[in-house]
Amino acid sequence: MDLPVDEWKSYILQKWSLLPKSIQVTICTAETLSDIFLHSSSLLQPEDEMFLQELSRGYLVGKDPSAPLFYREEGNKKFQDKDYMAATVLYTKGVSHSRPNTEDISLCYANRSAALFRLGQYETCLKDITRAQMHGYPERLQLKMMLRKAECLVTLGRLQEANQIIRDLESNFTDRQTLAASQFQILQRTLCRLKMKVQEKETPTGTFPAALTTDFEDMNLREENEQISCASSSVTLCTDPLKGRSLIATKDILPGELLVKEDAFVSVLSPGEMPPLRAGLESRWDTRVTNGDLYCHRCLKHTLATVPCDGCSYAKYCSQECMQQAWDLYHRVECPLGGLLLTLGVFCHVALRATLLARCEDVGKVTRKLCDEISNRDICSPESKNLVQTLSHDLGGASEKNGETVEPPIPGCDVNGKYGSNYNAVLHLLPHTQNHGPEHKFLCALSVAALCRQLEAASLQTRRTSLKSSQPKAAVVPAMRQELHGWGVAMLRHMLQLQCNAQAITTIQQTGSKESIVTDSRQVRLATGIFPVVSLLNHSCSPNTSVSFVSTVATIRASRQIGKGQEILHCYGPHESRMGVAERQRKLRSQYFFDCTCLACQDGKRRAAAGPRWEAFRCHSCGELLQGGDVLSCGSASCTESASRDHLVSRFQDLQQQVGKAQKLLRNGKLERAIQLLLGCQHDAESFLSAEHSLVGEIEDALAQAFAALGDWQKSATHLHKSLRVVEVRHGPSSVEMGHELFKLAQIFFNGFAIPEALNTIQKAEEVLLVHYGPWNDEIQELQKMKSCLLDLPPAPEGPSV
Ligand SMILES: [Zn+2]
Ligand SMILES: [Zn+2]
Ligand SMILES: [Zn+2]
Ligand SMILES: [Zn+2]
Repeated sequence: MDLPVDEWKSYILQKWSLLPKSIQVTICTAETLSDIFLHSSSLLQPEDEMFLQELSRGYLVGKDPSAPLFYREEGNKKFQDKDYMAATVLYTKGVSHSRPNTEDISLCYANRSAALFRLGQYETCLKDITRAQMHGYPERLQLKMMLRKAECLVTLGRLQEANQIIRDLESNFTDRQTLAASQFQILQRTLCRLKMKVQEKETPTGTFPAALTTDFEDMNLREENEQISCASSSVTLCTDPLKGRSLIATKDILPGELLVKEDAFVSVLSPGEMPPLRAGLESRWDTRVTNGDLYCHRCLKHTLATVPCDGCSYAKYCSQECMQQAWDLYHRVECPLGGLLLTLGVFCHVALRATLLARCEDVGKVTRKLCDEISNRDICSPESKNLVQTLSHDLGGASEKNGETVEPPIPGCDVNGKYGSNYNAVLHLLPHTQNHGPEHKFLCALSVAALCRQLEAASLQTRRTSLKSSQPKAAVVPAMRQELHGWGVAMLRHMLQLQCNAQAITTIQQTGSKESIVTDSRQVRLATGIFPVVSLLNHSCSPNTSVSFVSTVATIRASRQIGKGQEILHCYGPHESRMGVAERQRKLRSQYFFDCTCLACQDGKRRAAAGPRWEAFRCHSCGELLQGGDVLSCGSASCTESASRDHLVSRFQDLQQQVGKAQKLLRNGKLERAIQLLLGCQHDAESFLSAEHSLVGEIEDALAQAFAALGDWQKSATHLHKSLRVVEVRHGPSSVEMGHELFKLAQIFFNGFAIPEALNTIQKAEEVLLVHYGPWNDEIQELQKMKSCLLDLPPAPEGPSV
């Protein structure tokens, strides 16, 4: 997904292997990125481009005029089945294939508004109704939609507007002869019901529950750092010739304190893991739900009611404003290149967008020069000093003091020593040119070169068509070959940087069936972005911070106490609770080019023999953990049992399969059978897995869900307690994983009306989640609602009063 698709990758690697040795050597020994790009791109042949275009055509990114009808009909089927969520997504797909101001688009919006209405999303429903009307919704169908609009307004308490619509409807429709008698009756009845609702709302009864107070303040940094934008004053930026840049605590920091809050310099929504539909397979159109259908392609907000780009079917936005902004900043250039960008992968797309955004910062001119100069030097060299200066001057910063030049002290900083979340900082992220293999560099260079050729062709087109609308801020692509070379080098640099500096933007997605009372959640990757300030943090497999995202904004909070002078660390992915030490070391070496010496790794190497408890087997006779390699022996001194690893692993795999089967039964609502199977699994697991084994946790979790679905809250809570213990051993008592488990437990107690237990668990869950997410988080909001609901219950009667 990050790198180009496999077909293109193997095509290029083949090409590389067939190159004469002398050319390979020239590329391998090239001194600068500019040279690498120059040598590689000169080898890109028309047949290579044809092959790439063939691959790109596999993606359905244009607007297909017959698709809207297909998706609308598929959506209607789901609507009939009362699966309104699925219907909404299918109508969205229909919208994205429609041209503006057509009956197609207005019908898709109108149908989607109906589905949103059923989902209780009244505000969004109103937006879709307006959109349907904007695009010329047919007069003959207006009546039903206006009634829906009135219902929404009444429900939302916007009574004046509702009254206006009701009056309009009455005067327009009631005397119409065109309506069939039955329709007329329905209309009459609906209007009557609506008027009653309005009257009810107009006479307020009782008081509303106290509104939830949202402490927005905590979403902002208490005191902004003068040296590093987007960071709190509790940290400072240091450099060290060995370790490079790092962030150090300037005072004692408490868990939960907000340390960095940064909007991505650039981000690109991940298309999802699904391969394109190849022609002839399945249906002509894709009915699968992807991230691209549910999140805004610019701001990454979750929405069921996206608006599409007018020119393509793949870019969708939360609002007209986001669409316009994306268009002005980058989509104008990207729109016709959808298939190519999906083929070349997310990194290539991020590289292009970063370069397009740099234009908007008015640094385009120096970008190329600066890039050439520092392309192969991982640190800011004296020669580039002047350019950095020019850059900051262009950005409005003071570059000279009394005619004297001031040397930037730390790479990526401006002349005043200030580090910002800007293109200058992005350019100074390390590309590790020397560490990448020559084949990889060749693949990146040729991918970028192919993209440049397409940009060149497209920009000639754009120049011809858009002369009339010359917006100064709009994304433009250079048309001249020489200029394009600079762009190519910049993009190649970004592609290489991304391997170490790409930040996955994640979100928590609710899983489980619609009916389940206890919600489960999992973390999904939404997008890939570059955050220059977050990039200052070094890695630890056992970090002292936690990162979370709201739309494209990353926040980093302390996850434990950090003493003055200690380094602020976050995890690049290989966390000690997810991987063993050897695997972590391998991954960090191959992807990030360093040998991790964090405390967890030092500790882990010492304890490597036993392996983590959540993967351990135990002795069937005494219950102690087993240790060793191919043959495991009991850890207890008084026990002589041993077992072969192969045998245990195959037992484990069998059990895993059984648990999978049970989880499937659970999803399909076959609760009794699921419970039976799970209890068998539990019994089996006890005989050979450690009590803290992750599979044991999964079994207990599934049992908890099953009993919750049956309404047996007590049993459910007992099982969840056991699952909680496994999570605690693996991830720690104040980990975000623990927070999610506590949240589930709170829901169970709440639903079971176990009031003291519920309040107690809510409190614990809140404490843990606050540290990681801050107060403006869905789960925390939910917890607060539960709490206020429990506290508002009337006190139990204290006996009969006579
Ligand atoms: Zn948006
Ligand atoms: Zn587009
Ligand atoms: Zn480590
Ligand atoms: Zn034993």
